[in-house]
Amino acid sequence: MSSDKAKKQEAIDAARNRIRSNRSERTDIHELAKSIVDGKRDGLAKGITLIESNQPEERESAHELLKEIKSLSNNSTSSLRIGITGIPGVGKSTFIEKLGVDLINEGHKVAVLAVDPSSRNTGGSILGDKTRMEKLSSNEMAFIRPSPAADTLGGVARATMEAILLCEAAGYDRVLVETVGVGQSEISVRDMVDVFTLLLIGGAGDELQGIKRGIVEMADLVVVHKADGDNVQTCNDTASAYRNSLHLFPQPKGEVAVEVLTASSLSGEGHDKFRSSLNSLVQKWKENDFFSSQRLKQRTERMEQHAKDLLFLRMKESKGGIKAWDELEQQMNEGELSAFSAAWIWANKKK
Ligand code: GDP
Repeated sequence: MSSDKAKKQEAIDAARNRIRSNRSERTDIHELAKSIVDGKRDGLAKGITLIESNQPEERESAHELLKEIKSLSNNSTSSLRIGITGIPGVGKSTFIEKLGVDLINEGHKVAVLAVDPSSRNTGGSILGDKTRMEKLSSNEMAFIRPSPAADTLGGVARATMEAILLCEAAGYDRVLVETVGVGQSEISVRDMVDVFTLLLIGGAGDELQGIKRGIVEMADLVVVHKADGDNVQTCNDTASAYRNSLHLFPQPKGEVAVEVLTASSLSGEGHDKFRSSLNSLVQKWKENDFFSSQRLKQRTERMEQHAKDLLFLRMKESKGGIKAWDELEQQMNEGELSAFSAAWIWANKKK
């Protein structure tokens, strides 16, 4: 074969292989989507790993997967997304374990996801750790996933939101999202769940608990936790104090007054009341349309955020994008440019 002919043949073979591999990738994604919708746990775990990936080629597959899942199922309509926050040690995992088991006994499938911005620094996660929820993690009707690793495109919160959608597609109709109640992550979790629950410890003031006032204002349900043994009276007092101070907070958006409850996850006391308050809140929100309008608003905001993240990434990945960024950052740090000017020049640079 002449070398020209050989080259041509090589190009044809390469093109064939590309088509074949594209086809098989699409088949893989279809199979993966199917296994998730069929409720297969390993499929769900694999799907979540895919959406957490930051590799450009996997981002494309993640998009295909989410699209495929949408066409195969629409399970999110009957789901309930519950955020649970509170400082470390307040008893979040113990509370979630009890709540999860109770929900399963009521006939639900329960997924537990975690948003833990600290995992960005430590590389590990203390939230959503299976060893902290032994009963739940061994239950067939539960799926527990720790916080995604660092450097996920659009952050840990985006990956968690997409994970919620995959869990719902897999039939998990109660999705519990755990987060540490001390900072920024609560705001992003507030924007991805229907009901945001704040766990407090009896007796300790907000300052002592490291809770920002804004987080208390975001709560739809407040639980003064560990109300057992000698703690019962203190917890009751704390709950009363919160109830009395609620009028100082802005009117709740969904027009249903925030309930302040007490509970113990050791004795189980207060958990039935928590679930009935949760159900009644959701019922009222469905009646006054707040439930669906809140989801709609959250979706719109997420689309905007995704678009920003993707455009930013595209700019950075464009020719000379990173080099220009580094140079402008240096000029800014040397005091030659303000942050706005540096960003302006970068965003308007010629491709
Ligand atoms: P997290 O860091 O918020 O997830 O807290 P954990 O669930 O790990 O609980 C922290 C500690 O509080 C553990 O030693 C639990 O056994 C204890 N704890 C959790 N829930 C309760 C409760 O309802 N009552 C009491 N007395 N202790 C609890």
